[in-house]
Amino acid sequence: MMPIQTLNPYTNKVEQVFEPHTSEQIDTVISTAHNAHLSWKNTPIARRCELVSKLANVLRDEADRWARIPVIEMGKLYRESLDWEVDICAQICEYYAKNGKKFMAPDTLKRSLLSGSTVVEKHPIGVLFGIMPWNYPYYQIFRFAIPNVIAGNTIILKHASNVPQCGMAVEEMFKKAGFPEGVYTNVLVSGSKAAQLIEHPHVKGVSLTGSEAAGAKVAELAGKHLKKVVMELGGNDPFIVLDDADIDYAVELGLLGRFFNTGQTCIASKRFIIHEKVYDEFLTKFKAAFAYFQPGDPMEYKTMYAPMSSMAELDYLHQLVTKAQEQGATLEAGGNRMPDLEGAWYAPTILANVTPDMDVYHQELFGPVAVFHKVANDQEAIALANDSEYGLSSVVMSKDNKRADSVAQQLEAGMTFVNCPSITEPETPFGGIKNSGYGRELGQMGLDEFINRKTVRKI
Ligand code: NAP
Repeated sequence: MMPIQTLNPYTNKVEQVFEPHTSEQIDTVISTAHNAHLSWKNTPIARRCELVSKLANVLRDEADRWARIPVIEMGKLYRESLDWEVDICAQICEYYAKNGKKFMAPDTLKRSLLSGSTVVEKHPIGVLFGIMPWNYPYYQIFRFAIPNVIAGNTIILKHASNVPQCGMAVEEMFKKAGFPEGVYTNVLVSGSKAAQLIEHPHVKGVSLTGSEAAGAKVAELAGKHLKKVVMELGGNDPFIVLDDADIDYAVELGLLGRFFNTGQTCIASKRFIIHEKVYDEFLTKFKAAFAYFQPGDPMEYKTMYAPMSSMAELDYLHQLVTKAQEQGATLEAGGNRMPDLEGAWYAPTILANVTPDMDVYHQELFGPVAVFHKVANDQEAIALANDSEYGLSSVVMSKDNKRADSVAQQLEAGMTFVNCPSITEPETPFGGIKNSGYGRELGQMGLDEFINRKTVRKI
């Protein structure tokens, strides 16, 4: 069982160890969340939105303090934590606080065969259990929790075992914003002990963001108990560069897409599928930019390259890269730990000549490793992009809008970005197909997942 602890990947030192909650404590948390739901669902939507708006202020007022915790727990760059992560959480709160009432409004059906009226109302379903990963330790929580507290559901959150203080920080934010007890509760429990929460009759839905393996186990258990689930799982996203693309811009977006958060992003661009006419230019420019990735203390704003989240993640990634080489892939750059550095540092890496008989062709590389493929035409690019068990996000780069749209239409993915990095915004629905999961977060769709659409027919 994974210990629940803060192990700083920059220093490789355990900073704090936490005791998991006991079964009795978890039972108390569930009944508190259930009782809270009974009054929270009847709290006027305007008040629910007001508290979410206050939560945005709590995030912004103490942004520096919140931003430092992920740096210590999973090595995130302070600059990305402050400028991106804390900020987007506040944006998510502001977006749902503004639109919550509209999103919860009932629909009146106009073409009823009989006289009278038919209205489809929206009601919350109760206590939801969230299981979240460490890679964006605030954002993942906020995109699940905020639309659901607006809807009137209450939340119990289990964070990944390596980011306990991030989990506790979010609970503190909710308290500071003035939410009633039980609307949002953090539990310290390892993955293998989560069953008690999934099975409990008061828990009405489960949302998991994480790996395919964890998703399959949680969905199986939730299915056995007929609970609704949302699954946000892994990806092996293609980044397609057509021969008419602006190469400098494509390199810029590709680097951002692969190396933001040290490559530990579900919607990171992982497979670069490049037209043969521009392959060499793209590769040369991409590789040259690695000079900017100089490691440093992730807590310093000026640092541009961070360690991975843990030595365990690094070792696993390195094993995949080594095996790829043994199976015949070419190493174009990196492929090693960064020598003379204490923490979980892995050099920016490029693998090429990767073929379907190699394991790495199919696997998600959750770190700073890009796989480069050369293709002769658009159809080859599309076929290669779709030859994956995953279907999360995707990017197409081309100056010809019609051509880019045609490629985009044929990609098997939950999201496609054209001449735009694979990004997330509060109003844009987020989610995948195939083994990347099901359900959507953010936008109105994110609020509609755990809702009882109750039909009220009157004559
Ligand atoms: P992970 O090992 O699956 O862990 C994610 C969460 O699931 C953690 O809280 C973990 O708890 C929990 N968990 C693991 N096994 C469980 C089980 N049997 N029952 C209940 N909970 C369980 O994933 P990770 O390594 O932290 O995150 C990386 C993966 O997440 C990648 O595949 C990435 O692509 C994916 N991801 C997807 C999205 C998306 O939106 N699609 C976003 C971010 C990340 P413990 O830590 O206690 O084991």
